[in-house]
Amino acid sequence: MVYKGVLTKMQTEFLEPIQYYLVFENDFIHVNQLLNKPIEMKLVGYQCLSCGLDRPIFRQGFCKTCFFEKPLAGDWIMRPELSTAHLDKEDRDLEYEKKVQLQPHIVYLANSSNVKVGVTRKSQVPTRWIDQGAHEAVEIVEVPNRYLAGITEVALKDHVADKTNWRNMLKNDVKDEDLLIWRQKLKKYIPDEALPYFIESNTETHLHFPVEQYPSKPKSLNLKKQESYAGELVGIKGQYLIFKDNTVFNVRSNEGLVVEINL
Ligand SMILES: [Zn+2]
Repeated sequence: MVYKGVLTKMQTEFLEPIQYYLVFENDFIHVNQLLNKPIEMKLVGYQCLSCGLDRPIFRQGFCKTCFFEKPLAGDWIMRPELSTAHLDKEDRDLEYEKKVQLQPHIVYLANSSNVKVGVTRKSQVPTRWIDQGAHEAVEIVEVPNRYLAGITEVALKDHVADKTNWRNMLKNDVKDEDLLIWRQKLKKYIPDEALPYFIESNTETHLHFPVEQYPSKPKSLNLKKQESYAGELVGIKGQYLIFKDNTVFNVRSNEGLVVEINL
């Protein structure tokens, strides 16, 4: 079977274990069903996720022009504290920014390799945690807009990490942490504006990934350099495909690549 299409981050279903789908324009692959089977992947082109043109991908699946111009790649995406829609202030397209920023957001603690703080739209829970390969997570505050979530994250970053160590996450080199204790410990650092939104009662969410064999020394596949790769799939965690020979492939950071997948 040959599938061809532009890579976008895998769609997921929060089941035990998590179910993954590679979705193409006219077709999809249920990736869990490929475990223990050989896969061949080939780079055949590029397709910007915004303009659709065959241009080199710059960041987040966008060509350089779109990355610097389109509202869905504004700085406030990666840095929520820069959000200004709540002030009626435009960055690139106020209508779009209002739609995305002025909705419930969650600041959470997730443990993928270490405890880290993060921000997501409420509608993206638990998708965001799945994408990060977190095996446990808990909400800290639920606020009405992205700005409040952003300033909370910034304040907490001084006391807890905001990055995942992807190698340790993939090796499953993880330690169970009591995130409820962490939440209580961090409460005093939440900015006054966000404190009324503190969540006291939620319990931890636990996530189970379909991995049969963790890589001992993960090495990242760069399809832009190598152009094609063949290997046996032994796991899926976060947005990574894990192969038997220790090769790992981050689907999300390869968005916009047009690939041919041979099963
Ligand atoms: Zn583009």
